[in-house]
Amino acid sequence: MKSGPLRFATLHLQQEPIRLLTASLAKGRIAQSYIFVGARSVGKTRAAKTFAALLQCLEPTTGPSGAPDACGRCLSCKRVAAGSHPDVTFLRPLGTEIRVGQVRQMQELALLHPYLGKWRIFIIDPADRLNESSSNSLLKILEEAPERVVFILVAEQLEHMLPTIRSRAEIVTFHHPSHRSAREVIAQATGVSATTAACAYALTGGAFGAALALAGQEAVAADPLPLREAQVRFLEDLDRFAEHVQAGLQEAPSLEAALAALENPELPSFPPLLVSRRALVRGLLLAESLPAAFPVLFARVFLDTLDRGRRGVEKVLDGVIARQKAAYASEILKDMDKQFGPAVQALFQGQLTAFLECLRQWYEDIFHFAHTGDESWLLNLDRKEDIMALSLGRGLGAAESGIRLLSRSLELLSRHVQPGLVLEHVLTSIGGNAP
Ligand SMILES: [Zn+2]
Repeated sequence: MKSGPLRFATLHLQQEPIRLLTASLAKGRIAQSYIFVGARSVGKTRAAKTFAALLQCLEPTTGPSGAPDACGRCLSCKRVAAGSHPDVTFLRPLGTEIRVGQVRQMQELALLHPYLGKWRIFIIDPADRLNESSSNSLLKILEEAPERVVFILVAEQLEHMLPTIRSRAEIVTFHHPSHRSAREVIAQATGVSATTAACAYALTGGAFGAALALAGQEAVAADPLPLREAQVRFLEDLDRFAEHVQAGLQEAPSLEAALAALENPELPSFPPLLVSRRALVRGLLLAESLPAAFPVLFARVFLDTLDRGRRGVEKVLDGVIARQKAAYASEILKDMDKQFGPAVQALFQGQLTAFLECLRQWYEDIFHFAHTGDESWLLNLDRKEDIMALSLGRGLGAAESGIRLLSRSLELLSRHVQPGLVLEHVLTSIGGNAP
């Protein structure tokens, strides 16, 4: 999400959790641990940083409702925003998990007095990635931690956390905003037109924070392309995406940063692929019919492109590791080495998932429109003419079976069923109203 001063006044569409947090501060009742839970990209991480900033702020102010807010300007606020406050520590996964060693390091820090601020704060993000042993280790810390220590666990799903951790924490729920309010705020906050806001929102699949960051970028408002061009553009953009990842790796100052770049190459940083992916999905759905050979051929080219991208990234990664390995103890290096392969694999497999998810979102829009006729439900509101045409042409039943097909295919992919077969089957099934 776009950074700026960390203030609750600038956190959009989450009044309820903000009210809860500021009320607990106003009453002087700070919990030892909080779980900020809610969907991806609704502002949980930003809220966690802002709450940390407020707790440490040297000159707290009040927001419009009279509730306390961070000033966003003092040295302390600036350091929290920059990630350099000595009493605000972030715990992020190393590779796919937050490991027990990381939690133990945190434990040592938790015992120290705050260095500059009033509190020692740990933001564990995403806490869904704690594994069994790191969860147990965290629980032990929660049981023994001294006063003046606050843990903020950021998670998408409460179920992924130990019940014993959940029951100790104050749960702060972040709700998904409605499409309508999300689009309105994106337009207001970035100054783009309602159409561009709707487009950015749709391109990110309804991820509010990501859409907010994307809205101001040039590539967003592209004209729709005919199927053939969309297909070529999409495949080119996949190659460019791989180059973009490679460039990110080359710049990574450490192996941890390289892993983070692989784990989270924030999609708004590469908007063209979002645009061409949606153009391709639109073209496929609007096509009267697809040539019989299309599913097999396209699936092959798609997967070959992903494979090429993966190999290119692996090659660059080998170089990065070779250059930096002297700085690491051999055990840590071995441990990290084990995580790079799966991270690269997941990154490229993620492209296939994203493609199928985009298709599913279109089917969901067709379904909503056929069902209610209400356009405010549509994710792809900026393409409502297309959705209406598809809805009229195909009807509710086809939309429902499309959603089922895509959900099943996504599940098969997550279980590592051969991606080529999954993709071919989807493309064959959606191939327009072929005679
Ligand atoms: Zn401040």
